[in-house]
Amino acid sequence: MTVRPIRMFDDPVLRAVAAPVHDFDRELRRLVKTLTATMRAGAGRAGLAAPQVGEAVRVVVYAYDGKAGHLVNPRLELSERRVTADEACLSAPGVWWPLERSYMVTARGRDMFGKPVTVRALGILARVLQHEVDHLDGVLFSDHLEESERARFLAEALPAG
Ligand SMILES: [Zn+2]
Repeated sequence: MTVRPIRMFDDPVLRAVAAPVHDFDRELRRLVKTLTATMRAGAGRAGLAAPQVGEAVRVVVYAYDGKAGHLVNPRLELSERRVTADEACLSAPGVWWPLERSYMVTARGRDMFGKPVTVRALGILARVLQHEVDHLDGVLFSDHLEESERARFLAEALPAG
């Protein structure tokens, strides 16, 4: 199992729109395993998106509260009900910030063999899925903050030097 270094907030790969997966091949299965191993390598890690290990393809993994898995080419349906909770990103270690997200999601995508999968989640896991799918579109969670708050966030996430 390979654990890869996690790309930090200012890495351009985190701003790219990730490409859809077309080939459900060995390389994809290896990537899912690498993402899972990298997520599990640190305590409290609940999700990881492929761009965070430098691969701009639409793959995410998640593990929270006994629910774990992966999604290839995920699409999310969001509930109108929204809740605010502290959120963090492995690409900006140690910085937690309150953020409003949908309370429930239905995620549809494929597994690493190409089989369609649906994941229904609420609360923290719903938040994790929204956060990870954002990464596939080059969106960082600080992008959801008000401008003044974002400046404060970036000052904490990217200390000078
Ligand atoms: Zn993140």
